[in-house]
Amino acid sequence: MCGIIGYVGGKDAYPILIEGLHRLEYRGYDSAGVATIVKNGHLEIRRAAGKLENLRSLVATAPLAGKIGIGHTRWATHGRPSETNAHPHKAGPVAVIHNGIVENYIELRDALKARGHKLSSDTDTEVIAHLVEERVRGGAGLADAVRQVAGELRGSFSIVVLSETEPGKLVAAKTATPLVVGLGDGENFVASDIPAILSHTRNAVVLDDGEIAELSADGARIMKFDGSPVARKPRKIEWDAVEATRGGYDHYLRKEINEQPQAWIDTLAGRAAAGSPDVRFEEDLLGPGGPGAIGRIVMVGEGASWITANIGKYIIEELTGIPVEPDFSSEFRYRHPPIDPRTLIIAVSQSGETADTLAAMELGAQSGARMIGLTNTVDSSIARKADARLYTRCGPEISVTTTKCFITQLEAYYLFAIYLAQRMGRLDRERSRELLKPALAIPAQIRTLFKLEPAIKKIARTYAGAHDFIYIGRGINHPVAHEGALKLKEISYIHAEGFPAGFMKHGPIALIDERMPVVVLIPGDDLFAKMLSNMREVESRGGKIIAVTDQKSSELSAIATEVVHVPRTNRMLTPVLMTIVLQLLAYHVAVERGTDLDQPRNLAKSVTVE
Ligand code: GLU
Repeated sequence: MCGIIGYVGGKDAYPILIEGLHRLEYRGYDSAGVATIVKNGHLEIRRAAGKLENLRSLVATAPLAGKIGIGHTRWATHGRPSETNAHPHKAGPVAVIHNGIVENYIELRDALKARGHKLSSDTDTEVIAHLVEERVRGGAGLADAVRQVAGELRGSFSIVVLSETEPGKLVAAKTATPLVVGLGDGENFVASDIPAILSHTRNAVVLDDGEIAELSADGARIMKFDGSPVARKPRKIEWDAVEATRGGYDHYLRKEINEQPQAWIDTLAGRAAAGSPDVRFEEDLLGPGGPGAIGRIVMVGEGASWITANIGKYIIEELTGIPVEPDFSSEFRYRHPPIDPRTLIIAVSQSGETADTLAAMELGAQSGARMIGLTNTVDSSIARKADARLYTRCGPEISVTTTKCFITQLEAYYLFAIYLAQRMGRLDRERSRELLKPALAIPAQIRTLFKLEPAIKKIARTYAGAHDFIYIGRGINHPVAHEGALKLKEISYIHAEGFPAGFMKHGPIALIDERMPVVVLIPGDDLFAKMLSNMREVESRGGKIIAVTDQKSSELSAIATEVVHVPRTNRMLTPVLMTIVLQLLAYHVAVERGTDLDQPRNLAKSVTVE
């Protein structure tokens, strides 16, 4: 999720490593560490929780020599942010840094323990060091050892390994998270992102999934996990330093929209898998009372988290039959809500630090309610205050307006609802498999949505001059209308409102004229005909309709001014695909209007005051 840099060459490694990590700081991280091989062939590690400054001070008092080394900034997914959990992780002569998630780390860890290994961190990463160490100790070369271990790991990861047994080599391997090899003159680099190496070289080989790179001072050898060699010419990186931090995109927001398939995959990792009906979490979310102890569920959140909670209500109620009440945490905390020990509170906050949501949890704690913290930040205040934690794993989000955290919250509700319904005995294995299948298909479907971008951009151009927008939807897509409007407001400063489609006649329809674009979320479900009627009401008053649908319908095409077709999924997951279309629409409208869309005026990423 965070930053990797490796260096081998004729210069002192540490200054290069720390500068590389500094270049990756913009991504956000919670701890950092470096390892080098010093003169006598020993591996030395320095790690510190918190900012890079802490690591710098540590190295100032305990310097690190060596012409080869690895450096890491961690964004915790498994185990709290702390010095012990910071990377590199070491086992015997081997040190490892890792980005991403090892899905099968529990079984690997248990097997390692049974073979006598002592593990000292709570991370999923440490197993990699021990697995490589075992093979190296058994006589394998470092590249072979890493290759074998990489084949055993499940999940999305990039790793770089350093070993006293081959002190002039770095071995890197990757699946779905990025890794790039930088080629210099008598020196070589490996990094998770281009900015880390840009001041040293512009010759880079981007590694593909399932590839290993073996680096020494005079060259790099690339092969597949099966050992077969890969010949790939380096490409010249033309980006400037600022562009590079955005992965070549014009804005972080656009980059993060693109990261959503991976964010979805990471949030699923180790919790559900193809072919299996089971949903598992890292801890028991329900507690000793089990599902029988839950009379109702209250979901508290603010902003986009409040909106996702409203979608979550539909999902959880449909699958479990338990009443779910979403609330603004800022309202909940002051309205003396009835809560008792049979209330399950789900506190939703991407930062895990939202002041109002923390205050709402305080009320929950006083009333003896069980609380689940649903957040993207391991060990955040909300995570600590909760009785159990359900983490989304979308990595750092830099753009102020949320994209990947939003959709992974929906994913978390979906998985939680299946898990709860299973524990209640409401889902048999067949139905569970049926429900998980579309969730596993979402990443590929999101990628197909990106192909619609030119069409969405054209729509954005047409309507970018509008003063107001209305968004309407029904059922589970009603809150999505709010999200579409919120996103547009935030980044383009156009006034926008979301309504349940049935509410239009009760007031908002008075606003409709030929200058009003109305975005209509109309999936081909049991409410399709009702939505068509609402569209007609808008059309007959001259409103311009932008319909987003998964249904081919000539009737719909005849009424709508513009139609965006999304792939079909299970009804409870339609909000995911609808939302992404609305993200792209808002993004391109904002680009047209030239706003500072990554840092919209008056907004902060995490709202830690009331
Ligand atoms: N899953 C690893 C951990 O929690 C790596 C996190 C990262 O990508 O920074 O330590």
